[in-house]
Amino acid sequence: MQTPDVVRRQAPIPFIQATRGDAGSCLLATHFRYAYHHLVRKLVHRPRRLRRSSALRNLVRETHLNAHNFVLPLFVSEKVQQRRPIASMPGVFQLSVREVADEARAAQDLGLQAVLLFGIPEQKDEQASGAYAENGIVQTALRAIKSKCPDLVTITDVCLCEYMSHGHCGVTRIDGNHFRVLNDETIELLARTALSHAAAGADIVAPSDMMDGRVGAIREMLDARGFDQTAIMSYAAKFASAFYGPFREAAESPPQFGDRRSYQMDFANSKEALREVALDIKEGADIVMVKPALPYMDILWRVRERFGKPTAVYHVSGEYAMVKGAVEKGLLNERDAVLEIMTGLKRAGADIIVTYWARELARWLAK
Ligand SMILES: [Zn+2]
Repeated sequence: MQTPDVVRRQAPIPFIQATRGDAGSCLLATHFRYAYHHLVRKLVHRPRRLRRSSALRNLVRETHLNAHNFVLPLFVSEKVQQRRPIASMPGVFQLSVREVADEARAAQDLGLQAVLLFGIPEQKDEQASGAYAENGIVQTALRAIKSKCPDLVTITDVCLCEYMSHGHCGVTRIDGNHFRVLNDETIELLARTALSHAAAGADIVAPSDMMDGRVGAIREMLDARGFDQTAIMSYAAKFASAFYGPFREAAESPPQFGDRRSYQMDFANSKEALREVALDIKEGADIVMVKPALPYMDILWRVRERFGKPTAVYHVSGEYAMVKGAVEKGLLNERDAVLEIMTGLKRAGADIIVTYWARELARWLAK
């Protein structure tokens, strides 16, 4: 007689033969049936029990998306009278001030609670003066949005690249063939920019430049001028990434020379990312952000686990364009892919997700 182990491994084939009426294998089949039942009785744990129906799956789902999780980025430009499509980001537009206020209102009506504003000025210069001008594009847009929807959370990107003639995120010094982005000179301008946004109605200012000490400088400036209730969402771990390409078209901010690797982080580093986040929290960041999203989910997870601060992630333009491209080619179902990506980001620790799909997500989740 065969040992139960051998029987178990061979069970399926003779069992099937026996059911077809092969009399010669009847006795064998009894043994196999015994072995089969012996095997299945041992399966106490059957995770599939809770996957049997959609109601059961809903009952035990661990991660839930809500429109409140999403922040919609909006691009407002002094140079457009009417919405201008951004070729590399289907469905995303540069908007006039009037349009951005309407768009913000429409977003709120859909159930979104927050927008993130980027400005494109008419003029750029070497001091990024449009970034902190009282009537700059973001400041004007903020007032327009707040007059239409005072309860909508307005977050502003605080950076200089859109306003600098050379497109870098800070004050630049050129020595021969080399250039340097000056840290301390830059953070002075960033603090002025954040203050002007707060004065125009920003609820949250979001420095995205990656200069050292800018969160502390902004906190100090805001507190000194009576804006101690304006929160800071710092782009704490922002990596020098290939996935920013389409954004630069949207914000008209590509650097005219060099790259941003002397200030944005090396994408190979995670321990450094944790140190960057720790510094920003120490300097007063209320929300910390990881950017981009999908290639950095390990960082996101570690940041959320280690610090327990409200944690944001920016699903960036290249990540958006990648999925859009696949959808256009008929390779992916947009709704399914996007819901899976967003659930993954939330599961990895994101409390807040900045995404160009925020509107569609609010619609899909309302159904
Ligand atoms: Zn920048």
